[in-house]
Amino acid sequence: MSDIPIIPDSLHVPKSKDDDFYLLGAGCSICGYVCFPPKLVCVKCLRDDSMKRIKLSPFGILETFAVMQIAPPGFTAPYIIGYVKLDKGPLVFTLITQCEARNGALEIGEKMELVIEKIGDDKNGNDIVGWKFRPAKKSNDETSLHRWRRPT
Ligand SMILES: [Zn+2]
Repeated sequence: MSDIPIIPDSLHVPKSKDDDFYLLGAGCSICGYVCFPPKLVCVKCLRDDSMKRIKLSPFGILETFAVMQIAPPGFTAPYIIGYVKLDKGPLVFTLITQCEARNGALEIGEKMELVIEKIGDDKNGNDIVGWKFRPAKKSNDETSLHRWRRPT
C-alpha cells in the first residue's frame, strides 16, 4: 500500500493487516506541546531538537465548523470544513464527511472520528486520498479507517 497518493509526512499508511491509518503529529519532549501537521521547531519553548513524531488519536471533539456554499475547483458545494480537537492532541483543520452539509447537522462538542477517503483526482485521474473527520456516533458500520481502498 506504499503507493497510495497522500500528502507526505502527515498520514501514516498501514504496512500490514495489523497496522492502521493514523495522523502523524509532532510532540515536544521538553514542554509537551503537540501539533499537527508536524513541525520541526517547538513554537512554545522554541527548541529545535525536541520535536518527535507521534501517533495522534483518531478521535476528537468538534470545536467549530462552517458549511461552505461556494466550492473551489475540485470540490462540490455545499460541504463542511471544521476544526477537531483531538484527544490529548492538537486542533486539526479538516473536511467533515458522512453527514448532511447543512446548518444544524453538527453540534459543537460532538465526538468525531478520523476517516480516510478520496478527496479528489490528480491531473491523471488518479485518486487523491486524505483524512477527513465524521461524527463518531455514525460509526457503527465497518471500521472507518479501512473504508478507502485503491480501485483495482
Ligand atoms: Zn516545547
